[in-house]
Amino acid sequence: MTHTDKAPVGHNRESRLFYQSRSRRPLIDRAKGVYMWDVDDKRYIDASSGAMVSNIGHSDPRVIAAMNAQLEKASFAYRLHFENDAAENLAWRLAERAPGDLERVFFVSGGSEAVESCIKLARQYALAKGDAQRTKVISRFPSYHGATLGALALTGYTPMHAPFAPMMVDQPKIPAPTCYLDRDDLTDHERGIKYANMLEAEILKQGPETVLGFIMEPVGGAATGALVAPDSYYHRIRKICDHYGILLIYDEVMTGAGRTGKYFAAEHWGITPDILAVSKGLAAGYAPLGAMIAPDRIVGPVLDHGGFIHGYTYAGNPLACAAGNAVLDVIDEDGLLENAATSGAALKAELGKLADDFTMIGDVRGLGLLLAIELVKNRNTMETLDPKHMAAARLVDIAYDMGLIIYWRRTRGGYRGDHVMICPPMSITPDQFADILGPLRAALSDLQ
Ligand code: PLP
Repeated sequence: MTHTDKAPVGHNRESRLFYQSRSRRPLIDRAKGVYMWDVDDKRYIDASSGAMVSNIGHSDPRVIAAMNAQLEKASFAYRLHFENDAAENLAWRLAERAPGDLERVFFVSGGSEAVESCIKLARQYALAKGDAQRTKVISRFPSYHGATLGALALTGYTPMHAPFAPMMVDQPKIPAPTCYLDRDDLTDHERGIKYANMLEAEILKQGPETVLGFIMEPVGGAATGALVAPDSYYHRIRKICDHYGILLIYDEVMTGAGRTGKYFAAEHWGITPDILAVSKGLAAGYAPLGAMIAPDRIVGPVLDHGGFIHGYTYAGNPLACAAGNAVLDVIDEDGLLENAATSGAALKAELGKLADDFTMIGDVRGLGLLLAIELVKNRNTMETLDPKHMAAARLVDIAYDMGLIIYWRRTRGGYRGDHVMICPPMSITPDQFADILGPLRAALSDLQ
């Protein structure tokens, strides 16, 4: 093969890239606000914000200007050589917004790295305290915490986990509170307690002195489809972790940065986790960025006990942090937290109305603009769909052809649900709902 620096032009060319499969997607031309256009000028409404990333919408000139300004000043400054204002400012602003005593920030480039960092910090904290026997991190099934081997070990998502299981240290899992499918006659409060108590049972089974932490998504992401637990669940989990001296880690990679209508979802329940991971909406797709936020009572002993043995080349990258600061400015200036709450409630109500016409919508749920619909065979009987039919995947494909982007994850492997995520940018306005609801209604009719 001859070497050339020039790629062939046009989107029908053979691809040198590869992702999950051989399937190809249209070539993006441009994106603005909640809309995207491919090179054939077909318009799409981005009702999943990519993978729940583009929280403030696409191509906001304020973020572009801030990133350009940073590039003009210094495109890169390695953290072991220089501090940079963009990272320092963003750390202060995150510490102000983070719950309770979470005030020390460690920047990374994505969600998996943020989760890896949480595990490493928890472990080194245990070592600093002389608790070397604490090695286990309990997580939930189903759940998603990332694709790198450490984060994957915590992930309760069989299709991604299974091929690598023999290569990973097995971490204990408890069932996530998939309450809406329960047919017991417990109240919500009791159900919350029932699921939280599974954590206590697992801690006792493992031996409390061996457990380092418990990690959970406060509102389930793509693996569970925006599952919100009863209030009692969150409070009981916090109590159990306190009782056994186990670190409570909130994975807010998807829920953080405003998507649920509060900057961090933990605020909905007044819970302060011991360590928190955030990414996706932090720089809202303008740059790869994530963060771990922890209190000084955990970070301090680690720094004083040989230092934090962990780090990435791009940690505290000035360009990514400049994007993060500008995204925060946009969230504040445009009142996007309030909009995520109000537009989210309004869109959820509209999806509820859609459910009146489709008995295959078993549930409409979520918080703010982290919303999902659950597909079942028939809501009245609550019979679930045969996973072989891939209903959610087919719905997503039909909708995509109609110019509506919604999000799906394969739910095989133990979980009974079949859901589709509907999570438009926090900048969406009610007059744009029709562009989601119209094609969604048509796609559901086609699916039936
Ligand atoms: N944690 C949660 C809750 C997520 O939703 C994701 C991604 O979807 C991750 C972690 C991993 O993030 P990334 O894909 O940026 O590595």
